[in-house]
Amino acid sequence: MTPEKIVENHKKYVLQSWSKQGNLNPIPVAKAEGIYFYDFDGNKYTDMSSQLVNLNLGYGNKAIGDAIKEQVDKFCFVGPSYATEAKSTLAEMIINLLPDSFGKVFFTNAGADANENAVKIARMFTGRNKVFSRYRSYHGSSFGAGNLTGEPRRYPLEPGIPGFVKFFDPYVYREAVEFESEEAATKYYLTKLREQIIYEGPDSVAAIVMETITGSNGVIIPPKGYLPGVRRICDEVMAGWCRTGKMFAFQNFDVVPDIVSFAKGVTCGYVPLGGVAVSQKIADYFDDHLLSCGLTYSGHPLACAAGVACVNYYSEANILDNVNKVGKVLGEILEEMKEKHPCVGDVRYIGLFSAIELVKDKKTKEPLVPYGKDENGIMGSLVGMLKKKKFMTYSHENMLFVNPPLIITEEQIREEMVKMDEVLTYVDNELI
Ligand code: PLP
Repeated sequence: MTPEKIVENHKKYVLQSWSKQGNLNPIPVAKAEGIYFYDFDGNKYTDMSSQLVNLNLGYGNKAIGDAIKEQVDKFCFVGPSYATEAKSTLAEMIINLLPDSFGKVFFTNAGADANENAVKIARMFTGRNKVFSRYRSYHGSSFGAGNLTGEPRRYPLEPGIPGFVKFFDPYVYREAVEFESEEAATKYYLTKLREQIIYEGPDSVAAIVMETITGSNGVIIPPKGYLPGVRRICDEVMAGWCRTGKMFAFQNFDVVPDIVSFAKGVTCGYVPLGGVAVSQKIADYFDDHLLSCGLTYSGHPLACAAGVACVNYYSEANILDNVNKVGKVLGEILEEMKEKHPCVGDVRYIGLFSAIELVKDKKTKEPLVPYGKDENGIMGSLVGMLKKKKFMTYSHENMLFVNPPLIITEEQIREEMVKMDEVLTYVDNELI
C-alpha cells in the first residue's frame, strides 16, 4: 500500500478517537526504533509522550518482540480458565513487586476495564455501592471508567451512574487559599474529603479511586501525607511501571493501597494488557464468594508473554536508574523554563512524568485557555508547532506534556527541550 492510500483509507474508514473526523491528517508510520518513528518520506519524529504514555521502553524492544514470537509458536490463545506459563509467571512477578499485603491479579485488556473491574471487586468485597473519584482525573472512556473520570471527557456520558461521586483534587497551584506547608494543604483536602464522605454516608462508600499521581490532567503530585490519609484503589495505569522513578507511583509515598489497577507500561503496548491487583484479604474473600468478573481475553497468552519480558526488562536494563538520572535533568530544564518564560505558570515533574502549565499572567494564574473550552484551538496549534519541529506530544487543557520513553538519554532530552523552549518563546511573544 502506498502511504497516500494508507492515509486515504484511514480517513475514509476509521473513526479516530477524541477527534472531529472531518479534518484529520494522520502521519502514516513506516518504521520505528528507540524513541523515534519515521514516515514513508524518511522524516524522523521524536516521541516525547511515549505515544499515550504507555510506550515506556520505546520502539523495537527485541526482548519483548522475541517473547511474543515464542508464545505465537507455542499457542496464541486459550481462555481464562486454563493455566499458562506466561500468565502464572506474570501474576507472580506483579505480586512480588507490590507490598507484602498483595495476593492476586485479575487480568484485563487495558486500563479502562481494569478500573471498572477494580470498582466491581471493591463493591462485591465491601457490599457497598458508592465510588468516589476526583474532578481532574481520567480513568478511561468506556461507560463505567468514563463515569469515574472527572474531567470533561465525562460529559458525553452524563447523566452518569448513580453513586459515582466526585471530589476535589489536591491541586495546590490552583487553590483559592495559600497553604503554609504541604502538611497544611493535606489537612485541608483530607478534612474536605472526610466531610464529603460523611454527607454521602460513610457506610455506603465502597471505594475511593485515585490516579496516584494525576496524569493527563496535569501531573498533579499530592502533597505530603495526603495519600496515606486515604484508603483507596490506586489507578497506576499511567503513573505505574517506572514512569515516576519508582516501579509504582504510590511507592513515592508512604502508603499501601488495597487495590492497584495497571495497564499501559506492563507491556508497553506491544500487546494490550491491563489488570487489577488486590490484597490477600480481598483475594481470600473470593475463595467462597463468586468473582463476578469476566473477559474473554483475561490473561491473554500473547499479552502475558509480552508482560513477562517487559517487566523483566525494566530491572535487567536498570530503567529506574535512567528515569531518575534523566528525570533530574528534565526537572532542571523545566525549572529554567518557568524562570525564563512569562507564559509558564507552573511546571510539575516526577521521574519522566511532567507537565508545563501555561498562563496568560503568572500573578493571576489565568490559564492560557479556559477550562474545557479551547474553542480557538490554541493548545492544538502549539502541539502542531512542536510537531513541525518533530517533537511529538499532546496537550490537555492549558498544559503541554513531556513524558518521553524511559530509555531516553540526557543528550536526547536536552536536544528536544530546545524545541519546546522555542515554542514557549512564541507563546510569550504572540499569545499573552
Ligand atoms: N487510567 C489512567 C490514569 C489513564 O491515563 C488511562 C488512559 O490514558 C486509563 C485509565 C485508560 O486506559 P485505556 O485507554 O488503556 O483503557
